[in-house]
Amino acid sequence: MKYDYIVVGFGIAGMAITFQLKREGKKVLVIDGTQAKASHVAAGMYNPVILKRFSLAWRGGELLKSAKIFYNDLAVFLQQQTTLDVPVYRKFHDVEEQNNWFSAIDKPALSPYLSPYLKTTTSSAIKAPFKYGEVMQTGRVLVKEIFEKFKQILSEDNAFVCEDIDYNTVEVGLEEVEINGHKASKVIFCEGHNMSKNPFFNYLPLGTNRGAYYVFKSSSLKLEVAVKSHYFLLPLGNDIYKFGATYQNHIQIRDGADPNYEKAILKTQLEQLIDCDYEIIDFVTGVRPTVKDRRPLVGEHPEYKNLIVFNGLGTRGVTQAPDASRRLSNYLEHGDSLHEEIDINRFADMFYQT
Ligand SMILES: Cc1cc2nc3c(=O)[nH]c(=O)nc-3n(C[C@H](O)[C@H](O)[C@H](O)COP(=O)(O)OP(=O)(O)OC[C@H]3O[C@@H](n4cnc5c(N)ncnc54)[C@H](O)[C@@H]3O)c2cc1C
Repeated sequence: MKYDYIVVGFGIAGMAITFQLKREGKKVLVIDGTQAKASHVAAGMYNPVILKRFSLAWRGGELLKSAKIFYNDLAVFLQQQTTLDVPVYRKFHDVEEQNNWFSAIDKPALSPYLSPYLKTTTSSAIKAPFKYGEVMQTGRVLVKEIFEKFKQILSEDNAFVCEDIDYNTVEVGLEEVEINGHKASKVIFCEGHNMSKNPFFNYLPLGTNRGAYYVFKSSSLKLEVAVKSHYFLLPLGNDIYKFGATYQNHIQIRDGADPNYEKAILKTQLEQLIDCDYEIIDFVTGVRPTVKDRRPLVGEHPEYKNLIVFNGLGTRGVTQAPDASRRLSNYLEHGDSLHEEIDINRFADMFYQT
């Protein structure tokens, strides 16, 4: 059988573009391998504000709006809930941070997202003498549940295979691409950090950024909102919490990551934040696919027009993927132009230099 599209990789990028193309009525085959998936360990939080310095993330409001529409539509398609509203409270460490927050509220771009009221939480285990600022319109995408249901739907339609792509099997013709013995008019590569092994797109400057978090149980913490201090503390329900994630760039992990180092950082930070009993129940790591300019990598191969890449979602995969996948789908199916900041054309020089 010949497909319209083969999507390689079923993380957030692969899932989002598969959904967009299915909405266009396209015949899509998803091939997902055994490599580690950042999307399966992501907390799934969305929040348009950079909480370190109280500024708006790149196209923060626009991407948030697009994401809300996307996950609502996805909920209808999957016939299940895709997001949860989760308030995010930024802990203030001193009066200066409080003042910076109130100055940020005066900026029109930020005022819809930053509450002007100082907040407290239900937890007496967190000392916060300077209180919290609440970020509004925040929540969590139920990534694990989305993948399970979407994969089931695709599998029932024989449109999902679990295979690792052998790049040596790729044959690119003018009208057709063959990959691992499957044929399609176009192939969209969504391999996350594993793109470095893809001979067609490894000229692109994709970096890696490792993140680690603890999952722990505490019956005395009694926290109902997500708290952002140095790291995120996220309630998952039933007295279970996530704490992290660390942020180690490719220079630090080039010589191999050290889980003991990550565990030590997390333990120190957690015990600085909470003062109560807890029991660690899991330690989880993943690698974020990042780009120096912090924009996704989307577009056609400079020479093989039926090979496409969708990657570089970085630290904000759940908010970047809806907008970028919509633009990619409109580009492929309706000839719309790609947003120049996400188009891989911005790195064309790097291809011709290799
Ligand atoms: C610890 C951690 C916490 C995070 N928290 C958040 C958060 O709260 N909010 C947020 O927005 N973002 C978060 N992120 C970032 C987010 O996870 C990423 O932006 C996103 O998951 C990237 O998705 P992706 O589809 O590009 O890559 P991946 O999820 O890595 O998916 C790539 C897929 O391609 C497959 N693949 C690779 N090579 C091959 C091959 N040769 N053949 C077949 N299949 C292949 C892999 O098996 C995988 O399924 C977090 C990341 C980490 C590590």
